[in-house]
Amino acid sequence: MFPISQILPRARALYADRLAISDGELRFTFEELGNRVDALVGGLKSKGLQPGDRIAILDVNSYRYAEMYYACAQAGFILLPLNSRLAPLELKFVLEDSGAKALVVTEPFFETAEGLTIDVLIKDYDALIASAPPDTHVADAALDDIVQIYYTSGTTGEPKGVCLTHRNMVASAFDSIVAAELGQNDIWLHAAPMFHLVDAWALWSMPLLGAAQVMVHFAPEKMMEVVQKAKPTAVALPPTLINMIINHPKVHDYDLSSLRLIMYGGSPAPLGVLQKAVEVIPTSYLQAYGTTETSGMTALASACDFHVTGTAEQQALTSNAGRPVPHIRLEIFDDNAQPLPRGQVGEVVISGARVMKEYWNKPEHTAEALKDGWYHTGDVGYVDDAGRLFIVDRKKDMIISGGENVYSVEVESLISQHPAVLEVAVIGVPDKQWGEAVKAIVVARDGTFVTAEDIVDFCRGKIAGYKIPKSFDFSQTPLPKTGPGKIAKRHLRNQYWAGSERAL
Ligand code: ATP
Repeated sequence: MFPISQILPRARALYADRLAISDGELRFTFEELGNRVDALVGGLKSKGLQPGDRIAILDVNSYRYAEMYYACAQAGFILLPLNSRLAPLELKFVLEDSGAKALVVTEPFFETAEGLTIDVLIKDYDALIASAPPDTHVADAALDDIVQIYYTSGTTGEPKGVCLTHRNMVASAFDSIVAAELGQNDIWLHAAPMFHLVDAWALWSMPLLGAAQVMVHFAPEKMMEVVQKAKPTAVALPPTLINMIINHPKVHDYDLSSLRLIMYGGSPAPLGVLQKAVEVIPTSYLQAYGTTETSGMTALASACDFHVTGTAEQQALTSNAGRPVPHIRLEIFDDNAQPLPRGQVGEVVISGARVMKEYWNKPEHTAEALKDGWYHTGDVGYVDDAGRLFIVDRKKDMIISGGENVYSVEVESLISQHPAVLEVAVIGVPDKQWGEAVKAIVVARDGTFVTAEDIVDFCRGKIAGYKIPKSFDFSQTPLPKTGPGKIAKRHLRNQYWAGSERAL
């Protein structure tokens, strides 16, 4: 194994003239990219930054984002990719919690960044690159040095800085190449946010292969334009972004046929969304399961495991996240941290080279999450006889109603198949009789009308009565999302549990 700081210099030496990055009209070969990164390192060092300093970036997906990843690794800085959906107060928390020294911010976020306190604020990226002589030095890095810190989006609690090392990221880069069968002729599309590991691992996998990356600041039509023009072959998207594309009125006007592989994950994928996706953009869809704490894609289904056609057996397969990637050891534990046999449902736990070093400055949270070398994911699932992982729900999203466990994902998957339903979230709300009762929050498709009775009728006979929602809210606006596009269920639950004791 070698530190990730060596990945770009290696690609530059071996694949100098191959295309490394395209972003709009800009195109850089590995040689050109290497030169730009040297210039960026020179610029950052001229600001007095030292190895180990945390440097934050607030930007949309862009060549700048990629260059910052490479420059920080090369110079020994720790990159702090900021979730661009955070409010100024949340950003302030992340900058203070991490002790960031510098912030690189670009135009769409100038207003957001006003009022943030930081030693070095860089608003003119181009000027920074031109400001000092290039610095070609690659810092000596130990495999266990921290190289990136990602703040979790706080889907289930207070944001924590996940510290990832060179070892974590290089293992992740190799694992992804093997699991997704990526090759030199693949072109990766960065459409999911580059501040999140649904996507960012590809920044290291593609240069290892001498393969190209294309950047797009996600908006459904913009992404389709870029696919038609730049012809990327592979992309990873959270299901909510897939849902936006396949429901776009112009989806059939664009040629999206270069995409041989759409990986989806980061959150459960409702069956209704997948069925429509396969119809609208016919290509290979593979489910990936991952967590920031295990350096991104942790398990991936393979094409032979997974087809969506809607039969009962295949419906079960939609929660199939495939087999763990090479540097991951995965088990299912019971409540006493004992491994369960195949087929039994328990907590997904993970060990191996991909598990984070720690949460930044939070030893008690680290000790809670990492026990005897196992990272406790808080996800509920099982492994079948063929070694495939099935994610059933998040522990905190599971609803206990009248003593029965209801997995919110199962109910969402069914309701999403109703033709009038665009988005749905299923949560538990307090209930005197049942302890918790199942509630669905539904967004209907434009131009359709659906009632609670319609949905209850649709569910009857397909799932047990206690799983059918007892109440419904209909929302005219899209459901709230966390940074990478996951439905923010904690946020939805908040309004019903104010003042109560449920772990939100
Ligand atoms: P928190 O802030 O609570 O840590 P997060 O959403 O910010 O949550 P991430 O590391 O971004 O944390 O996401 C990891 C989680 O996303 C997993 O633990 C799992 O619950 C969910 N997830 C990822 N992939 C899948 C998948 N394929 N199917 C179901 N859930 C998934």
